[in-house]
Amino acid sequence: MDCPGAILIYNNSLRSYRDLPLRYAEPGLITRKEKSGQLGGLLRVQQFTQDDAHIFIGEDQIEEEIKKVIQLVDKIYKPFGLEYKAYLSTRPDDSMGEISTWEKAETSLKKILEELYGENYGLKEKDGAFYGPKIDFQLKDAIGRTWQCATIQLDFQMPLNFNCKYIDRDGKEKTPVLIHRTIMGSFERFMGILIEHYAGNFPTWLSPVQVAIVPVSEKFNDYALEIKNKLIKKGIRASLNLKDESLGKRIREEEKLKVPHVLIIGEKEEADKTVTVRSRGIKEQKTLEVEEFVREIAKEVSEKK
Ligand code: ZN
Repeated sequence: MDCPGAILIYNNSLRSYRDLPLRYAEPGLITRKEKSGQLGGLLRVQQFTQDDAHIFIGEDQIEEEIKKVIQLVDKIYKPFGLEYKAYLSTRPDDSMGEISTWEKAETSLKKILEELYGENYGLKEKDGAFYGPKIDFQLKDAIGRTWQCATIQLDFQMPLNFNCKYIDRDGKEKTPVLIHRTIMGSFERFMGILIEHYAGNFPTWLSPVQVAIVPVSEKFNDYALEIKNKLIKKGIRASLNLKDESLGKRIREEEKLKVPHVLIIGEKEEADKTVTVRSRGIKEQKTLEVEEFVREIAKEVSEKK
């Protein structure tokens, strides 16, 4: 886990209430000794990278900061169209720290969840960590399995145990509260969920290659390269298939890779300054002026659907 490293950085200098919230983010490497029978693709692995963060706050900043983290979860999950639900885990019997602090924190978290999701969040009684309450997000994949990805944990204990301090407004030393949070949970698992969710058909904005260009023969390589450069200049991820194989084979190859748009370039296209477009999942191909295609794809990518 990455927590002690973040705490060492925090403790490296004297902190004031003016420094809070103090947010440290890192892609942290995590290793877990899972049994080989439990491993599965990218979804359950022994070593993965977590989009981790540790946020130091004053007790009176819990509500505002947690709300910001939840809004970040919403912002990151929304473009993928994934179904997810938040769960609040409350104080377990073996909890540490003042019960009144726990109750105050749980009340704040409930208030935020109600404000953001109404009734549409779950409660896991007594399922919090011994050091503080937490909010987990469960994602549903395309075949209905649920996965825990984002987690936001309030921690009253670690800052105490590691002797974290800050000087408050009144000049007195206080102990900060620590938020541990991850949004995707693990990049590997999140990728695995996305691949299954889309069945490999990534939306255009997410596709590693958005446009593949296939010239009919090498006579048209120059024109094909000109189009590729035009697309790249607009920030579109375009590739050129110049393999020494038949046209049909090259087109099939790109379609198998599930590239959203395949452009076919021949004599007529070069003469008319057009491209012939075969789009994934659409039977009919169409011919467009190059500029028009560039405009269309730029719009499609910006819509994030
Ligand atoms: Zn942590």
